[in-house]
Amino acid sequence: MKSFNLRQLKLRPGEEHRDEIQLDLEPFELGGERYLPVPDTVPAELAVTKATTGTVFRLGFTTRLHGPCYRCLEDAVLEVPIAAREYQATDPEGSDELRNPYLDADNLDLALWARDAVALALPDKILCRADCAGLCPVCGKDLNEEPHTHDEATTDSRWSALESLREQL
Ligand SMILES: [Zn+2]
Ligand SMILES: [Zn+2]
Repeated sequence: MKSFNLRQLKLRPGEEHRDEIQLDLEPFELGGERYLPVPDTVPAELAVTKATTGTVFRLGFTTRLHGPCYRCLEDAVLEVPIAAREYQATDPEGSDELRNPYLDADNLDLALWARDAVALALPDKILCRADCAGLCPVCGKDLNEEPHTHDEATTDSRWSALESLREQL
């Protein structure tokens, strides 16, 4: 489901409509990388509550995003729980704050809403694990698999060569 039509609801003030829906999710881009929701359809709960002054919309679901780790480019999986809320005043009087941006006439754009809600919930950087060491900036090797540093490493080996030379003298 990508959108929801409110026309059939006909809620009166104080009434709530709850729906278990199958929500279609789109891929995300973050820092130039693509993150795919797997699966791309998830069960979601949509609640529409009518009050005298307006209508509250709530959307809840959890998505699993697959994509490259920001540091080491290996596969990273991120679980993102979403609890989004929007409000539409019965009489918004031109105020954007009282308007649900995903509502166009009776059509609620779930795909766009879900996308924005996930984008807001994402961390700055998606990592394969919190302490990912990343790639070596000098040689590009994965520092998780081969922890090393360059300057010290070369200096160390030079010194140890010198040390062994001195031992031979
Ligand atoms: Zn990583
Ligand atoms: Zn290196």
